[in-house]
Amino acid sequence: MDGGFGITPSGTSGEVDRAFRGAVDAFLEEALSEDLRAAGRATTGLKSSPEACAVWRDKLRARGWLAPSWPVEHGGAGWSTAQRLYFENASALRDAPLLQSSGIRTIGPLIIAEGTLEQKLRYLPAILSGRHEWCQGFSEPQAGSDLSAVSLRAEREGDDFILTGSKLWTSFAQYATHMFLLARCDPGSTGGDGLVFLLVEMNRPGIKVNPIRFIDGEYETNEVFFDRVRTPAADRIGEIGGGWKTAKRLMAIARSNNTTTGMLRRALRAAERGATGPGGAAPSLRARLGQLAMRIDMFEALEVHAGAGRISIDDAPATSVLKVMATELHQAITEAGIEAAPDTDFAQAKYFATRAATIYSGTSEVHRNIIARAIGCP
Ligand SMILES: Cc1cc2nc3c(=O)[nH]c(=O)nc-3n(C[C@H](O)[C@H](O)[C@H](O)COP(=O)(O)OP(=O)(O)OC[C@H]3O[C@@H](n4cnc5c(N)ncnc54)[C@H](O)[C@@H]3O)c2cc1C
Repeated sequence: MDGGFGITPSGTSGEVDRAFRGAVDAFLEEALSEDLRAAGRATTGLKSSPEACAVWRDKLRARGWLAPSWPVEHGGAGWSTAQRLYFENASALRDAPLLQSSGIRTIGPLIIAEGTLEQKLRYLPAILSGRHEWCQGFSEPQAGSDLSAVSLRAEREGDDFILTGSKLWTSFAQYATHMFLLARCDPGSTGGDGLVFLLVEMNRPGIKVNPIRFIDGEYETNEVFFDRVRTPAADRIGEIGGGWKTAKRLMAIARSNNTTTGMLRRALRAAERGATGPGGAAPSLRARLGQLAMRIDMFEALEVHAGAGRISIDDAPATSVLKVMATELHQAITEAGIEAAPDTDFAQAKYFATRAATIYSGTSEVHRNIIARAIGCP
């Protein structure tokens, strides 16, 4: 295994037993073909190519390791945070494709924690098989950092809600079969009152997805319009009027695994590769890459301490700390990647792909406010 500048894999190695490490290492060595590793190395954004993701997802699912944090009874691996991190690091070191599934990372854990039995049976197997892809419909033109200002209308008609309005910046809506969203079901309400958290099929009549293209040409986010979209009222999580509580729980889950050590180590490996041209890297760059590796180890120790990625995260400020640290570190790594290989499209694409990370899932400024309040700052 190529360890770059000799920077080693994982601060968590000591926390998982030898048998577990051996099983993970053996599986990865055997399952990761050279094609899959090449796809992993070529990844610039949040996901590897759809083809590589499909092959890798099937292999992980067959082994029972596709959803590391989900309980075994729901088709997950049931791993502890330390075990999950070992697996992620071992995968990153072998350039495994990057799978970023909103179903596995965010809505799946929420359904496990708070969904009805019927929702668990309908949605969890479909997430694992790849039949359902989810997107998140929270932000709107007038509701970003101030999310409780959402105004997408949900009017009750018999057993259904009728949705009218729009969502903005919805990542990967163009591929999604389902959206979880926050809508206002009490027209006279303001703020976090009078909201409902709904699970909506994207193929319902009246839904329109318009692309938003980034300055670098990438297409990831969308505007989504709802023109009297009928959707069952029963397909919600939590109480009608209590959607804000559910949304806060979803956001805590999403923040706790927004940017993982596996992603950080992949980015660092890419920067290290860029720095190994003729003559090798300048000493100052080597030192910088070494410091970044130490920051990843520190972040990983914090992830283990906070139990990151668990189904049940009740310490919201801790998830804000994880989100701010990981996304800012990711940006610092891709900045070093540019220094290592300034003229390559690859380093530039990776750099641009991490710029928005300190905006989505709540901006760094907003999370610093949450942290400040939690530690008693005025
Ligand atoms: C690439 C990308 C993908 C996204 N994907 C999704 C998605 O899939 N689903 C979804 O629902 N949303 C998504 N978003 C939206 C994202 O969550 C919002 O952009 C974010 O919450 C900020 O909201 P805003 O853009 O309205 O900015 P604003 O809230 O208008 O903020 C503008 C600036 O003011 C600062 N600011 C605002 N309030 C405060 C405050 N109280 N204190 C200090 N500073 C403050 C902010 O930090 C920011 O710098 C995505 C965004 C991006 C860029």
